[in-house]
Amino acid sequence: PHDACVVGRFAPSPSGRMHLGNIFSALMAWLSVRSQGGRMVLRIEDLDARCRNPLWSDLFIEDLRWLGLDWDEGPFYQRDRTNLYEDALKKLIASGLTYPCFCTRAELHAASAPHASDGTPIYAGTCRHLSPAEVAQRTAVRPPATRLRVPEANGPFDTIEFVDGVYGEQRESLSSECGDFLIRRSDGIFAYQLAVVVDDATMGVTEVVRGNDLLSSTPRQMYLQNLLGYPHPHYAHVPLLVAADGRRLSKRDHDCGMDELRERFGSPEALLGYVAHLAGIAPDAKPRGAAELVELFSWDAIRAHRDDIIIAP
Ligand code: GLU
Repeated sequence: PHDACVVGRFAPSPSGRMHLGNIFSALMAWLSVRSQGGRMVLRIEDLDARCRNPLWSDLFIEDLRWLGLDWDEGPFYQRDRTNLYEDALKKLIASGLTYPCFCTRAELHAASAPHASDGTPIYAGTCRHLSPAEVAQRTAVRPPATRLRVPEANGPFDTIEFVDGVYGEQRESLSSECGDFLIRRSDGIFAYQLAVVVDDATMGVTEVVRGNDLLSSTPRQMYLQNLLGYPHPHYAHVPLLVAADGRRLSKRDHDCGMDELRERFGSPEALLGYVAHLAGIAPDAKPRGAAELVELFSWDAIRAHRDDIIIAP
């Protein structure tokens, strides 16, 4: 199959050295695109101050190159793209669906509200109906965040449905499982949800392959795509790599950091062969280059391994 219109992306948030979990999702995104003859975009998600250190983004880029996972466009940096997010925010404000929110993190967590699928409390609507005078009075004390209304419960646009490439049919009621969510923080930083939707659309991304920790963000992103008139990309969420105790692998697992991995495996082929075997794509953990793995790649193999993948110590 050779579909020149497929566009995928790497979208790392480099707050430390690349680790095994990053390699796994990057490899899946790259293999899916390359096996369809598509194009790959590299976007550095550095809106958050923790991801602003150029050391980590430069190393991330170098590690991708070392692995042989190439891209056709970018790197693009989100910090250079805030004008685009601002435009989208203005459109949403003009639609009347946003409101300033003054709730502090502590207030949000203190409210004994039910929790959304990603663990955050469903917003109780505290600031939904503030009068203009109240807004002015509070803004003088501290700048508000901007929150986006979700549709009314049982209303026509409340339910978001999609078919995930790995986890199959998904369905979420925005009002009861998500609630009004932030699109800009009170410190002026645009929310991940808004930035990612604007970027995927303006970069022409047609397929999003990423860790299953973001499965619960997809309905919010699709809702934003609806409001902004953007098409929906195809979504495929891949299993997470977890430590033996069930914890998601992170940069704290030093034996899974790129320095250690490069030393342990010696070559990109050895490391990629190991990762492809974990994913169920390769029959054994023999060294294999990126191009060889394109031949072996299939979504069926990932679907068969869609439980979190445990890395033995
Ligand atoms: N930047 C996010 C991360 O590294 C991924 C965002 C996405 O794939 O939508 O976790």
